Amino acid sequence: MLELLLLLLPVAAASGWWAARRSVSKQERTAAREWSPQYLKGLNFLLNEQPDKAIDLLVKMVEVDSETVETHLALGNLFRRRGEVERAIRIHQNLIARPSLHGQQRAQALLELGQDYMRAGLFDRAENLFSELAESRFYKRQALSNLLEIFQQEKDWQRCLETAERLKVAGERGLSSRISHFHCELALQALAESDPGVALAQLKKAAARDRSNVRVTLIRADIAMHAGDCKAVIKGCKRVEGQEPAYLPEVLPMLQECYQRLQQDESLLDYLQGLYSRHAGSELMLMLTDLIQNREGAQAAEAFVLKHLAAHPDLKGLDKLVTLNLQQTGAAGETLATLKQAVEQMLERQAAYQCEQCGFNAKKLHWQCPSCMSWGSIKPAQNGGVA
Ligand SMILES: [Zn+2]
Repeated sequence: MLELLLLLLPVAAASGWWAARRSVSKQERTAAREWSPQYLKGLNFLLNEQPDKAIDLLVKMVEVDSETVETHLALGNLFRRRGEVERAIRIHQNLIARPSLHGQQRAQALLELGQDYMRAGLFDRAENLFSELAESRFYKRQALSNLLEIFQQEKDWQRCLETAERLKVAGERGLSSRISHFHCELALQALAESDPGVALAQLKKAAARDRSNVRVTLIRADIAMHAGDCKAVIKGCKRVEGQEPAYLPEVLPMLQECYQRLQQDESLLDYLQGLYSRHAGSELMLMLTDLIQNREGAQAAEAFVLKHLAAHPDLKGLDKLVTLNLQQTGAAGETLATLKQAVEQMLERQAAYQCEQCGFNAKKLHWQCPSCMSWGSIKPAQNGGVA
């Protein structure tokens, strides 16, 4: 059916079908009910590449009764998907203006029109429509879902929370992670307004909604860092391994700084070596290499990198190996310098972060994927995609 409708689109667009529909007489409307064989004939003309004849027939098919409402809804939807939003809006507005529509049909047309407005960036109008629908009997969940999307785009986190709670009451499942992130967003807003008390209260709610939300741990560690509480930072950072080891690169610099401020270099090395035996990521390898170099010299560091590369070949390891060799450069210095340049260029093209839902590559960490809008799906890239 969809294929047929797609075939009809250019015909409908060119024919002025919608305009003609308004001027049809009552007798013609009655006649239209008897035109299904002709409609099929029209499709046949189309399929046989005789669009002119098909247009003549379709122009006569202007009646909007319970059957053709569905067709118009489907066509409006297709226009929107094709990016022809103005045309979709006209179709849906015309439908809504018809007094013959019953409740559910009107609600469906409102839902579609709201989506047209969203697509056109007319968020105020979309919000009004979805708010009306959210109070009605039909399409309540869809309306609330769309409202949630609008409030997320507007970064109105308080209303996101309220809407998510309403969605939950309406029967929607799997909202905990999103609600937890909304609390995190409110915590960050409070921090920006220099109100750490409110921020901590929001983080508590965020953790209550989703214990596995590593973002809560990272923000708490950040707050402790700003307060100069190194012990709390270390304790917080150590939780990341149990929650979501992929985010370890996010806390390594903080962890190193705090251990060093507390003059516990030995404990840092012990902890990182243990971590490396369980999660041999490239950022961790780089940090360990520097520590080994400081303690035992370049050769020991090089041996460590070589061992890492043998088990986990990656560009960062290769770059480190070349850098270590350049530092002890001999006759091969020029070749190494060229090799380093090439590796650096390749590293520049690597994405630091990647969405595990849609594959979106990013240079910085987004907690909501800008592409698929999932929360908490973008993680530090292990092997590096291309940004
Ligand atoms: Zn994504």
